[in-house]
Amino acid sequence: MEKIRFEHCPVCGSVRTENIFHIKSGEPPVVFVRCADCGAFVSKYVLSKYTSDKPAEMLNAPPSKFVAPFDDEVKKSYENLQKLLKEQGEDFKLIEQLIGEADK
Ligand SMILES: [Zn+2]
Repeated sequence: MEKIRFEHCPVCGSVRTENIFHIKSGEPPVVFVRCADCGAFVSKYVLSKYTSDKPAEMLNAPPSKFVAPFDDEVKKSYENLQKLLKEQGEDFKLIEQLIGEADK
């Protein structure tokens, strides 16, 4: 089972969001998601790995178990996501429900 779901604001339905990182020593990074249109709390993620599109040589940062390189595997997984989105579109069930179904 593979599903695609955009995160929607529970108050106004917008898909425009702001990701606010909370980074604290000894803890995994946490991302709070806020609606860019109405400011409502949307969700919170606890990260196991963070990857951005910055090449490794640009990253002047100490190594961390919470950071993964922007490599071919990441690029391929994003291409696969785009393909899946084009083929099957968005599933409008709750994200919690989709995660639960995939975890059975
Ligand atoms: Zn909103």
